[in-house]
Amino acid sequence: MKIVKRIPKDSILACARWTALEPLMLPDNVVGKCAECGQAIQHRPHAPKKMRKVCMFCAAPDIAEGAESVTTKQMLEDFKTYKRGQKQ
Ligand SMILES: [Zn+2]
Repeated sequence: MKIVKRIPKDSILACARWTALEPLMLPDNVVGKCAECGQAIQHRPHAPKKMRKVCMFCAAPDIAEGAESVTTKQMLEDFKTYKRGQKQ
């Protein structure tokens, strides 16, 4: 996965699915709907508003076909914060 400063235009944001039965991965995550299937998803509050957000299941075919995966330093930091929270 490549770390970029700016997410390329027309990228999709692959998001974790969410159900009300489980806590958000990070407490300030925003709940939305997958642009493909309508399933509830969660993403970071600073995710670009115009970016198309889909659940991991809907993103999987693009990933399997070799679509380039990118992330930002902020996204990596958020993921580390989430992982640290899991270890407590
Ligand atoms: Zn979906």
